[in-house]
Amino acid sequence: MYRSFALISLGLTGLLQSVHAQETLESCLQNNKIQTSFAAQNSSTWFQDSAGWQGRVRPVPSGVAFPTTVEEVRMSLKCATDANVKVAALNGGHSFVSYGVGGNDGALVLNMTAFNSMSYDKATGYFTVGGGAHVGPAATFLWNNYGAHFPHVRGNWVGLAGSAIGGGLGTTSRFLGTTMNNLVSVTMALANGTVVEASESVNTDLFFAIQGAGSSYGIILSLTLKTWKPTYPDVTKWTIVLPTNTTLDIGVKALLAVQEYGLAESTPDEMYIRWRLTVPVWGGSGYFYGDPIAFSSVIQPLMDALPVGTNLTTSVADFWTMENDATGGLNATSETSNSRSFYVKSIVLTKDHPFTYENAAALYNFTSLAFNRSDISQSGLLDLWGGRANAKLQECDTANAQNGNLWIVRWEGDLKGSDTARGQPTLYTQNAIDYVKSGMQPFLAQLAAEGAQIRGYANYRDSELTPQQWSSQLYPNGNFARLQQIKRVVDPSELFNPNAQSIPV
Ligand SMILES: Cc1cc2nc3c(=O)[nH]c(=O)nc-3n(C[C@H](O)[C@H](O)[C@H](O)COP(=O)(O)OP(=O)(O)OC[C@H]3O[C@@H](n4cnc5c(N)ncnc54)[C@H](O)[C@@H]3O)c2cc1C
Repeated sequence: MYRSFALISLGLTGLLQSVHAQETLESCLQNNKIQTSFAAQNSSTWFQDSAGWQGRVRPVPSGVAFPTTVEEVRMSLKCATDANVKVAALNGGHSFVSYGVGGNDGALVLNMTAFNSMSYDKATGYFTVGGGAHVGPAATFLWNNYGAHFPHVRGNWVGLAGSAIGGGLGTTSRFLGTTMNNLVSVTMALANGTVVEASESVNTDLFFAIQGAGSSYGIILSLTLKTWKPTYPDVTKWTIVLPTNTTLDIGVKALLAVQEYGLAESTPDEMYIRWRLTVPVWGGSGYFYGDPIAFSSVIQPLMDALPVGTNLTTSVADFWTMENDATGGLNATSETSNSRSFYVKSIVLTKDHPFTYENAAALYNFTSLAFNRSDISQSGLLDLWGGRANAKLQECDTANAQNGNLWIVRWEGDLKGSDTARGQPTLYTQNAIDYVKSGMQPFLAQLAAEGAQIRGYANYRDSELTPQQWSSQLYPNGNFARLQQIKRVVDPSELFNPNAQSIPV
């Protein structure tokens, strides 16, 4: 009896506290004349404002603020602190686990759309972009005005800040590195309202933390990237399709041939390769940024190692045409791909523990070849990483370790019919998540038997991992402990901990 009474009064106290927090937050933001969107305002845009691209994870934020100045960002942080509400920055909203809108219920979301300034320094080739810019407009601005490029993800409306802090593997990353590897500096608003710069020479600990765990440390107001100008005006696109009678054995051997080719000293890093995990069409595609005249001789060693009857098709076009081919709608002025409801299981293979016959066979056999669902469709990709930019990295250079990364393995189940505008409700069952997970299990078990340490990719976050798993996979060895140390200094009250994979003090 006493226990029930205590529980009821505890529940009531919690409810009153959260109503009070909500009121404090709303009145503080409104008193400071910051544009907002709240569920209670019954605004027609609330569902759009509070939804990410991922339909499977639908947290309900406390509210969304649209700061337009640094002062408004600082004031928003103060309002959230006073109301005891966590904060998430929203850039492109393409997080696989909806972290841009908090990941969990109750965050104050800072929609950074107004922070979209862009400038290019001709002397250094450095490109400075606001923390709310999208990849497509940024790449287009840089190309149209200066004929320059930075390596970026293959999604036109993905956030540039959001993807840079998680990696940013694109078609030029084998020779230029990821977006993250090209960061020169970041300007960030911290929990206490100060605005600092972080780079390899100032606030170096914070700079390390930003590279893999940035959202746990503050709000990125702007970032500066190195850029590159194409050596050759034209790019070669290629597609390889193995014969239709390709068996598991032949397909696995073909993947090993691709890996050997990718690792060979003689293969230029200008060769980008994305190999299919989704079969029975076995093969892959890519772009070659070297001299188009040399393409035939460069690809020949790979063709020689693939089964007789393998088909190669190629086309050549100028750099910008191929940029738009690789990233659909790169030069468009709005999102060109519909949101969807999906679950991705992804890991990174390093050069120390690459594909072997056994682990690759387990991967294909229990994911794509075994796929048998009617509610979700399968999608699987193997992106070759490595290259000279990656070879320079140490494990402790970036919080989400990238040194020695060789492949991103991505296995995904997409809910059928969920390809819709943002904010539409969808039902992705736990059973479907478990199914996608279980398909990868034999591969993971084989890797463990081979002594591989599983590594994760921060841009492909997996909501199903335990704290022990995500902390060790994303931030291996000493990196996680270092992140916690930095957290204690920079955000001791965990203001920037809205989601399950925020760095705890
Ligand atoms: C269609 C599509 C294509 C993709 N292609 C690729 C690809 O080719 N290569 C690749 O590596 N990844 C790719 N991704 C993954 C993508 O890079 C990540 O999901 C990335 O986190 C999305 O960033 P965002 O800003 O769009 O998302 P958001 O949900 O807005 O943000 C992601 C995370 O970054 C934080 N964040 C955003 N802005 C700021 C800021 N200003 N300050 C502090 N923290 C911030 C958010 O709080 C959140 O934790 C793709 C995703 C999609 C949906």
